Amino acid sequence: GPTGLASVNRIVLPGATIGVLGSGQLGRMLALEARRMGYRVHTLSPGVDTPTGQVADLEVSAEYDDIEAIRAFARGVDVVTFEFENVPTDAADSAAEIVPVRPGGAALHVTQQRAREKAFLADRGYPVTPFAKAQSLDELAIGLGSVGLPAIVKTAAFGYDGKGQHRIDRIEDGERVWGLIGHQEAILEKLVDFTHEISVVAARGLDGQFAHYGAVENLHHNHILDLTVAPARISDGIAGEAVHLAHRVLDDLSYVGILCVEFFVTADGRLLVNEIAPRPHNSGHFTIDACVTSQFEQHVRAVCGLSLGDTTQVKPAAMVNLLGDLWINGAPDWAEALAVPDVKLHLYGKAEARVGRKMGHITALGDSVEEAAAKALAARDVLC
Ligand code: AMP
Repeated sequence: GPTGLASVNRIVLPGATIGVLGSGQLGRMLALEARRMGYRVHTLSPGVDTPTGQVADLEVSAEYDDIEAIRAFARGVDVVTFEFENVPTDAADSAAEIVPVRPGGAALHVTQQRAREKAFLADRGYPVTPFAKAQSLDELAIGLGSVGLPAIVKTAAFGYDGKGQHRIDRIEDGERVWGLIGHQEAILEKLVDFTHEISVVAARGLDGQFAHYGAVENLHHNHILDLTVAPARISDGIAGEAVHLAHRVLDDLSYVGILCVEFFVTADGRLLVNEIAPRPHNSGHFTIDACVTSQFEQHVRAVCGLSLGDTTQVKPAAMVNLLGDLWINGAPDWAEALAVPDVKLHLYGKAEARVGRKMGHITALGDSVEEAAAKALAARDVLC
């Protein structure tokens, strides 16, 4: 097949094979859409019988830093994409010598490490909360002085769903938190006084085309997304500004595919970028049931070099996550939940339920986001 730059603009048509690095629920929903459209799907991760592997044409079990395995995987597909951003940049680069990798390794490099991502945003003038990098306890103490209290300390690398995050209310807490995160590189941020957390899921095509799903509102529980309502209950002005910022991020990264930008809306009505996820996002799951083109189909279209699809949302929607906590008294009563009218159940095929683990989600539509949320929550409530 074509190699290097020659393949950069290649269009990948149905019948071809999409390679997905990572094999969780995002890859599963991506694979289901890709297969509906006539693509074959291969997935690679260290696991077996994974959420993606269960619905893919081929499941490869290998470590992400096994460059030979990554090369062999790339030789068997027509394009490589990710459902998991913490793949070593070397692996992405090796694959890119063989087939197009979309989004490219540069976007991955920026977004897989908080310190780098924050610097990227701040250097380009995006609004972010005051932050500082810390590589030692001394730097942590200095950083706390500059950003102010209360602050949140986050490990610089490999954090998600609030893992590796600790709040600091007093300078004296610094030493304890530095120990808790295991003395690794961290960033600290001023705690944001926000009224809403919102996100924009958007796509950029190979030709620079832009499409978005508007601003949606996210409610978290224990730092994990609990409920998304779409559209967000914020002013059109703030929603429009969020979409504009997401568009800028996509262009600044020369991005190809679906991406999510998470924001805080502050008590004084400003937007601050919290973080960027270079992949389909939990807050975009409602698009499967509520939009003409889901975020997963959109990602397939973008990484295959096709036109982006219509993002029209047919009705207000709500999505609730189903965490492993629901299994505390045994398997939840799916029949009861499915007896609630107008709800859509999505389960990810994970054998083992653990506290905080994302096992599935429920989406409901309504005439208002309140009505949609009430239905989705009612369906979850009868589960345990
Ligand atoms: P993150 O992993 O950075 O998205 O953080 C997970 C959640 O922690 C966010 O969605 C917020 O609810 C909360 N959080 C993170 N950073 C801050 C901050 N600087 N100020 C207030 N809340 C935060």
